[in-house]
Amino acid sequence: MTEAATTPTQGKDQPIKASELDPKFKYELVKMHGSEKILKCFQCGTCTSDCPVARFSDTYRPRTLIHMAQLGLKERVLKSDTLWLCAACFTCTDRCPQDVEVAAVIRVFRNLAAEKGCVPQVFKDQAQSLLESGYAYKIPELRVKKRESQCLPPLPKGDAEKVRKVLKGVKFIDNFQKPAGEKPSGQ
Ligand code: SF4
Ligand code: SF4
Repeated sequence: MTEAATTPTQGKDQPIKASELDPKFKYELVKMHGSEKILKCFQCGTCTSDCPVARFSDTYRPRTLIHMAQLGLKERVLKSDTLWLCAACFTCTDRCPQDVEVAAVIRVFRNLAAEKGCVPQVFKDQAQSLLESGYAYKIPELRVKKRESQCLPPLPKGDAEKVRKVLKGVKFIDNFQKPAGEKPSGQ
């Protein structure tokens, strides 16, 4: 990530400074598609207890991320590494007794984080590969040769130009296409 990252758990343990709080953040969120109902969350914890990722992670807690956002801890939420662990399975959204669209809220957080350049390197690498080859992962030459040796048909060619066209205007992607020397936003 481009900026120092924190996690919800670390964030929770660190003292909160008044200067960190952005009281407008929650009102910005209620205007965004997907996070309109964030203020209805009454912190019951159902989303976290049913989340399959939280079951295997000591730090990923959707309830905590929402609580931090309600408090105005915008930077801590957007710089959280665990934000990117969500598998978008929508279990939390189905189970929330308050109709908070938890999975969509996480998507909104990610979009805001991406605008600031706070994206894990693995996703930046995937974006770069998509733009260059049309594939999220570069197919190693060894794999291509092995297919040939086993008389398998060649893999279809990725159409990087089409991918670039489709993704034009996506801020996170545009950052990768800036002229050399110009730094992506958030760096
Ligand atoms: S299940 Fe809904 S109300 Fe309960 S903590 Fe999660 S978002 Fe909040
Ligand atoms: S959508 Fe994300 S936060 Fe919700 S239950 Fe699935 S993995 Fe957990």
